[in-house]
Amino acid sequence: MSTLPNVTVYDALVVGMGPAGATAAYQLSRAGLSVLGLDKATHPRYKVCGGGLSARIDGILDDDYKSVVEQTIYGIQFSYRGADPFFLDSSSPIAYMVMRDRFDHLLLEKARRAGTEVHEDELVTACRQLPDCIEVTTDRGRYVTKVLIGADGANSVVAQQLFPGRRSRRMAALESEVPIGTAPQYPGTGRALIDIGATPAGYAWIFPKQERLSIGVGDLRGGLASPKKVFDQFVQHEQGLAAWKVPHPTGHPLPVFSEYCEADRESVGLVRGRALLVGDAGHLVDPLFGEGIYYAVRSGQLAAESILNQVKDPRYSLAEYEDAVRREIYEEFLVAARVANVVYSYPRFCHHHLPRYQHIVMLYYDVLRGRETYRTFYAKAKSLIKLSLKDLLLEAVSFR
Ligand SMILES: Cc1cc2nc3c(=O)[nH]c(=O)nc-3n(C[C@H](O)[C@H](O)[C@H](O)COP(=O)(O)OP(=O)(O)OC[C@H]3O[C@@H](n4cnc5c(N)ncnc54)[C@H](O)[C@@H]3O)c2cc1C
Repeated sequence: MSTLPNVTVYDALVVGMGPAGATAAYQLSRAGLSVLGLDKATHPRYKVCGGGLSARIDGILDDDYKSVVEQTIYGIQFSYRGADPFFLDSSSPIAYMVMRDRFDHLLLEKARRAGTEVHEDELVTACRQLPDCIEVTTDRGRYVTKVLIGADGANSVVAQQLFPGRRSRRMAALESEVPIGTAPQYPGTGRALIDIGATPAGYAWIFPKQERLSIGVGDLRGGLASPKKVFDQFVQHEQGLAAWKVPHPTGHPLPVFSEYCEADRESVGLVRGRALLVGDAGHLVDPLFGEGIYYAVRSGQLAAESILNQVKDPRYSLAEYEDAVRREIYEEFLVAARVANVVYSYPRFCHHHLPRYQHIVMLYYDVLRGRETYRTFYAKAKSLIKLSLKDLLLEAVSFR
């Protein structure tokens, strides 16, 4: 930390202390940088989210997060418009379920313990690039930083102010939490439910937690006229929910990665001058199932690595962060978008064929575990499907 006349200059300032911001702040503080983390909320705070963490998170987070895992998931019940259930369970975890208030609080406290100065209940209202630093204004004061990390989620003020012209495609998602106490879990302990027929443009889910069910609907392609209507229909069709009164859902935008944005390099940039975007602020949400927490944590780590590299060697450019995201995340999202195109263009057909292609679903479980990437999954799935291509094409025509 250094000082200009009357003002403290931080090495890094992080706007938003969700998973992306708290992870970046932790890494930077641990390495000895002076870090200020600002969040408009006071943690623990409720966050509209399914709280499903794919098991590959084990590869990038220390084990201490397991203390807030509410349920470990080994299998999925796939349904179509509340009917035709097909279960596929496996012997090792594919996902962990968390409540975001506890998970995010754990990450924030970890950053604080590593040395991050955390200000909660402080809203960032403006950011301005100055010649050698960035000025951040909040409802309580003004700060100056050498590097700014925009981790302020889907409605990012940092993205709006420092990345003008950046395209943003945000989809609608809704979530409700049903308290069930100690009643039996639905669709079963250790099992999540996914229904790709519930909405024409995405899927509906039931994610079981310790004593509640998180129920939601996400639009992954855009253009869903009435997400609330789709949510109500899903709840109505899903017999397993008949015993419960489902509270009104809350909506939140889902900034899903889009191939269209990716093609326009100028407007998709994650680095401008001394500012970087991570997590939802950078639209790092998987286009297949809307997974964002893993990518928030990972992008927070990649951003911190680039900043630390630059501190060690000033010739190192922060743009390296964007290159790392392209290599590690965008390349995967491009393949996930291709899979999403098939699944959401032919949902009934895909659901119908799950029993025949369960080995492909198992392969996808390995993507969730981090044993396969989307790229290796796609290549293997393609050659498996090729073997039965003629039969499939004939059936696809009759299912459309
Ligand atoms: C309905 C729904 C269900 C979802 N389910 C899943 C799921 O099951 N699994 C999954 O992986 N992903 C899921 N996602 C996506 C996931 O929630 C996000 O990708 C994830 O929260 C991104 O983390 P983040 O740290 O980038 O942003 P956030 O978690 O949104 O954190 C941003 C933080 O910034 C703070 N902030 C915002 N603006 C300001 C400001 N101006 N000043 C100061 N602070 C500010 C906020 O208070 C917040 O704490 C879901 C999303 C939705 C909408």
